[in-house]
Amino acid sequence: MRKHYAVFGTPISHSLSPRIHAAFAGQSGIDLDYVAIEAGADDFRAKLEAFAAAGGSGANITLPLKEAAFALCRDSSERAVRAGAVNTVIRNEDGSWRGDNTDGAGLVRDLTERHGLDLRARRTLLLGAGGAARGVAPALLDAGIGELTVVNRTPQRADALADALGEPGRVHPRYFGDIAAFGEFDLIVNATSAARGGGLPGLPRALVGRRTAAVDLSYGEAAIPFLAWARANGCHDAVDGLGMLVEQAAESFALWHGVRPDTDAVFAALSGRAAALVTA
Ligand code: NDP
Repeated sequence: MRKHYAVFGTPISHSLSPRIHAAFAGQSGIDLDYVAIEAGADDFRAKLEAFAAAGGSGANITLPLKEAAFALCRDSSERAVRAGAVNTVIRNEDGSWRGDNTDGAGLVRDLTERHGLDLRARRTLLLGAGGAARGVAPALLDAGIGELTVVNRTPQRADALADALGEPGRVHPRYFGDIAAFGEFDLIVNATSAARGGGLPGLPRALVGRRTAAVDLSYGEAAIPFLAWARANGCHDAVDGLGMLVEQAAESFALWHGVRPDTDAVFAALSGRAAALVTA
């Protein structure tokens, strides 16, 4: 019987997730549909309920709803609890939702397996403390990075993320205003949505050391300003979030269907498409 899946967020019309899940389903011979549903903070709950009533089995949740999704799940995986944010929901038999968070596993898999980065002991700067930052921070710590500095436009959210991570000797919330004094990092992760409006506060070259890698969780045009800064300032690797998008989708797919899809062909197809969109 055909199963129904969706991704909720706003703006959602350009989401690549329906295409990724259709490709995974094609590989695995699973009969499903996967649609993008526009939803904001005010109507997310109602739209998720309507989706469930229409037979929805699972969904991905994206910007800016991941923390709201965590709050409405009846139970959640340990990694989602640590993140306080959910990007994947699975329908329980009683109609309630179980939350999980595959963003961190997706990022770590992309950086280590696709890009060959050794994350161990890397002194890491995380820009942002929203839903995506909350998802990736626990996985980066588990992957063995060194100290983690979290800086966010709204400082209280950086403090809250550091508190949730619960490793005070290793995780340091800081202010953008002090960024010139942070010193060098081995990994800089842009988990903000700043390119969609306003742009990031200026980043000093002093953040970049001899082996610094930079990753922007966004992709396409939204990743251009940060990756241009990274390349111009000598970062060794500068990676966008397309690989993470495909890997987190594969992780969600495996949770829903018990099958791990092959991500390389899907990543290759989307990389060509993303490059075409950026130059179009
Ligand atoms: P949220 O809305 O939850 O958080 C947005 C974050 O960006 C907050 O930390 C916010 O700071 C910060 N921010 C926004 N504008 C600015 C600005 N002008 N200057 C500085 N900081 C700013 O979004 P998400 O965390 O869900 O998503 C963040 C990014 O990650 C998006 O670009 C999204 O597309 C990408 N992403 C990519 C994924 C992938 O698979 N590749 C998966 C998930 C997300 P404040 O708290 O002060 O508002």
